Amino acid sequence: MISLLSIPTDRNSSFLKGSSFAPKIILKEFHSEARNKFAENGVELTKGENWNDIGDLELKNLTHEQEFNCIKDKIQEQLKEKNYCVSLGGDHSITYPIIKGYSKFYPNINILHFDAHPDLYHNFDENYYSHASPFARIMEEDLANSLTQIGIRTLNDHQRLQVNKYGVRVVEMNNFSLENNLELGSPLYISIDIDALDPAFAPGVSHAEPGGLTTRDIIRVISKLDVKIIGADIVEYNPNMDLKNITAITAAKLLKEIMGKMCEE
Ligand code: MN
Ligand code: MN
Repeated sequence: MISLLSIPTDRNSSFLKGSSFAPKIILKEFHSEARNKFAENGVELTKGENWNDIGDLELKNLTHEQEFNCIKDKIQEQLKEKNYCVSLGGDHSITYPIIKGYSKFYPNINILHFDAHPDLYHNFDENYYSHASPFARIMEEDLANSLTQIGIRTLNDHQRLQVNKYGVRVVEMNNFSLENNLELGSPLYISIDIDALDPAFAPGVSHAEPGGLTTRDIIRVISKLDVKIIGADIVEYNPNMDLKNITAITAAKLLKEIMGKMCEE
């Protein structure tokens, strides 16, 4: 069973706030009668049969550490029940405690990360938990077997050093092709930062970076995966920057495709 978890926080956003409002709006579009709940692979997402909505994490008035532990504990509670988690952020900082939770049950977890940004800063604005740093934390604590990043188009000197230091596989946007064979390990966790998409497809983000992926690129990459997918997150949607909910609708579509893929035998 998939547990759909909302994590409405953006305390670790460095530039614009707003992503804490994302989960509710993505879910509204996910449930909209404008669309059905069949993923393109033919799987119908039926609440109570192949997924459950386990609601919002209550994160108000917590310290950084408390928030981190609250996320990690919720993930571990679900994994203990043999449920896989799909989380809606929130800013990208949530992926670090999520993976911390997963690593206890899946020490050989591999990560496929879609983003315009590598999020590998050792430290950003003096915040260890910054949304610009989750993958530095994950790699320095050796929480994942491998990290593959797709859509990257903002590498600076520091982050290139971090890529080499941690052995991150980066498919820079300029080299991206659907023909590439990613040869990812199993089991796999998928983290989608909505700004991996070109702003033409997803204007509702805090750090828009033109020259990105199409919605179809991401769906194709996911549909071609032949490894076990044990969890995912969709983060960094910022409703304050959106136009007519187009980004929320796109996030809801990706949610449907990821969950459908996770239900494949
Ligand atoms: Mn990003
Ligand atoms: Mn990110």
